[in-house]
Amino acid sequence: MTVTTPAPARAIDNPARALVCRGCGSEFPLAPQHACWQCFGPLEVAYHPDALRSVTREQIAAGPPNLWRYAGLLPAGQDPATRVTLDPGLTPLVRADALAAEVGLRARLWVKDDSANPTHSFKDRVVSVALTAARAFGFTRVACASTGNLANSVAAHAARAGLPSVVFIPADLEPGKVVTTAVYGGDVVAVDGSYDDVNRLCGELVETDEFEDTAFVNVNVRPFYAEGSRTLGFEVAEQLGWRIPAQVVIPMASGELLTKVDKAFTELVAAGLVEPPDGGWRVFGAQAAGCNPIVAALHAGVDEIAPVKPTGIAKSLNIGDPAAGRYALAAVRRTGGWMEYVDDDEIRDGIRLLGRTTGIFAETAGGVTAAVLGKLVRTGRLDPDAETVVFNTGEGLKTIEAVSSLVGPTHRVAPSLRAAREAGLLGRA
Ligand SMILES: *Cc1c(COP(=O)(O)O)cnc(C)c1O
Ligand SMILES: [Zn+2]
Repeated sequence: MTVTTPAPARAIDNPARALVCRGCGSEFPLAPQHACWQCFGPLEVAYHPDALRSVTREQIAAGPPNLWRYAGLLPAGQDPATRVTLDPGLTPLVRADALAAEVGLRARLWVKDDSANPTHSFKDRVVSVALTAARAFGFTRVACASTGNLANSVAAHAARAGLPSVVFIPADLEPGKVVTTAVYGGDVVAVDGSYDDVNRLCGELVETDEFEDTAFVNVNVRPFYAEGSRTLGFEVAEQLGWRIPAQVVIPMASGELLTKVDKAFTELVAAGLVEPPDGGWRVFGAQAAGCNPIVAALHAGVDEIAPVKPTGIAKSLNIGDPAAGRYALAAVRRTGGWMEYVDDDEIRDGIRLLGRTTGIFAETAGGVTAAVLGKLVRTGRLDPDAETVVFNTGEGLKTIEAVSSLVGPTHRVAPSLRAAREAGLLGRA
C-alpha cells in the first residue's frame, strides 16, 4: 500500500523589499529608520510585487487564527520562532442590522470589533509587527509614545517576551489606560504635557546613547509598526468571503490606520486575492471636535494640516499634529470618501448607540466612529445603499468614565416579589 504524505509546507519568505519615502520616493534598505535623509519625509515599507502575488487564499486559510496568517504579506515574523507577539487579530466582524436601521443605512452594515484583541485595542496588531521587526534588528528594550492603548499593548508584549519596556504617556490619561498598562510591570512615564509633547520627547530620547538599544515602536521602527494596521483590511476582506466593502469608516489619530486599510485593499487587488467592488471602495475618516486637524483640512480644501491643541474625551485620538494626516487626506480624496467630526456629547451618544444596537461596548474612539457614521448618513456623504464596515478600535471598559454618569441601574427594588411588582417588573400594563 502506498502512503501519500502531503507536500511539506513551503517556508514563507519575507516579501519586504525596501523602505521608500512617502515624500520624494527615495529608497533605503530595510532598517530601523523612519525619516528620509533627502527630504525628511516618512518612510514606508515596499514589497516585491511577485512575493505578494505568490500568496494564496488557501495559504492564508491554512495559517493560524490570528494576524500571522498574513505573514506572507508582512515585513516581519515569517518564522514563528522569531515573533514577539500576543497573537492578536481575527477579531469578530459583526453584522449590525439594528445599527444600520437606526442610522438609516439600507445596505449591509458590519462592525469590525478590534476591542477583542488581547489588550483590547487594534494597537496589538501594530505592536506585534513592530516588535518582531525590532528584535530581528537586535533591539533589547522596547518603548513608545502613546495616547494610551499603544502603551498598554507595548507593556503587555514586553511582559510576554521577557523584554524590559518603558512607555511614555500624557499625565492626564484615563485611569483605565494607566492601570491596564502599569500592571504588566514595565516603566510607565507620565509626562506633564500633551501627546505631541510626549512624542517630541521620545524623538529626542531615541537619539541618545542611552536609548541606542531601544526600539520605540512608533518612532525608529515606525515603518514596520504602521504595516501591522494593514491586517485589519486583510481580515475584513477575508471575513467577507474575499470581498472589499464599498465603504469603510475609520477613526483617525495620526491618520495611519486609515491609510493602511486603504493600502491593504490596494495590495489585495494587486496580488490577485480580491476583485475591487464595482465603482471601487470609499474611505471615510472620523475625528472628535476636540482634535480634528485632518477633518478641518479636508473641509477647508487644503493639503497642509494646521496642528491643534487637543481637548475632549476621545483621548486615544488626541494627536494634534498627525504624522500621516496628509496621506489620510489623499486616500479619502482619491477614493471619493469624506471625513467628519463629532463633539463629546455625540461621542457619548455614539458609545450608547453602538452598545444598545450591537452589544459592543466601545471606548471613546468607537463612540466617535459610530457617531460619525450617523452624521455621514444624515448629511448624504455615505451611500445608504452601499455595504459599509465601521471599525471599533478599542474597549469601553478602559474609558468607563465617559458614560458612567449617563447609565446605571434602571430600577432599584427591595428583594421581594411585591417590590418587583410595584416597580413594574412583572407586567407592562
Ligand atoms: C491609536 C488609535 C487609533 C488611531 O490610530 P492612528 O493610526 O494613529 O490613526 C484609533 N483608535 C484607537 C482606539 C486607538 O488607540
Ligand atoms: Zn524623501
